[in-house]
Amino acid sequence: MEGRERVFTGRQVNGQALLAGAGAAILATLGCGSTGTRVMVPTEQYRPGQRARQEGAVEYKGADWVVASAANYRMADRPYDFTIDRVVLHVTQSTYPVALKVFRDHGHRAAAHYVVRARDGHIAQMVGERDVVYHAGNRAWNERSKGIEHEGFVDQPDRWFTDTAYRASARLGADICARYDIPVDRDHIVGHYEVPGTDHTDPGPHWDWDRYLRLVRDAG
Ligand SMILES: [Zn+2]
Repeated sequence: MEGRERVFTGRQVNGQALLAGAGAAILATLGCGSTGTRVMVPTEQYRPGQRARQEGAVEYKGADWVVASAANYRMADRPYDFTIDRVVLHVTQSTYPVALKVFRDHGHRAAAHYVVRARDGHIAQMVGERDVVYHAGNRAWNERSKGIEHEGFVDQPDRWFTDTAYRASARLGADICARYDIPVDRDHIVGHYEVPGTDHTDPGPHWDWDRYLRLVRDAG
């Protein structure tokens, strides 16, 4: 993000955004199906660390809060300390409950901001969007991105890459892109396999990128 203004997500309580530099905020609820609120705050009025943390407050409407182990992410204050300009898609190579379990395990050393369940498109938020979760296998890319995990296995697309999951994930992706001004294209919505230096292959060759991008645009 360039210039004097930066964009971040206000954490909302009863419709009130909890903001640093109170009074400086101009709230503008986005259209295009966004469930979040875009908040513009002049940077000189921002005081690091003043934004309140609300345990259990999800940033995507309808998600469940299932907190990851603190060993699997690090606290940050994005997008103030790091610009967020990428969404990285993953496939868990496990079922949804197993993914939640391992992301809650302090020994796993990885998690994601969100996990999408195949059967019904239900979404768990496991790490706050301001925080840097270890998901991309690349420090700089962890710092610049949100991670969305999809339940399933890369070689069983018919079973796991359901229309419901595509649509649920695309709505989440559209919401994130809208709130952080991330362009909806393949430069900014990427697979784990495209992260520099990774040896991971997810979401795999059967992930339908054209379909996903189209659904994100339709949801946006
Ligand atoms: Zn991955």
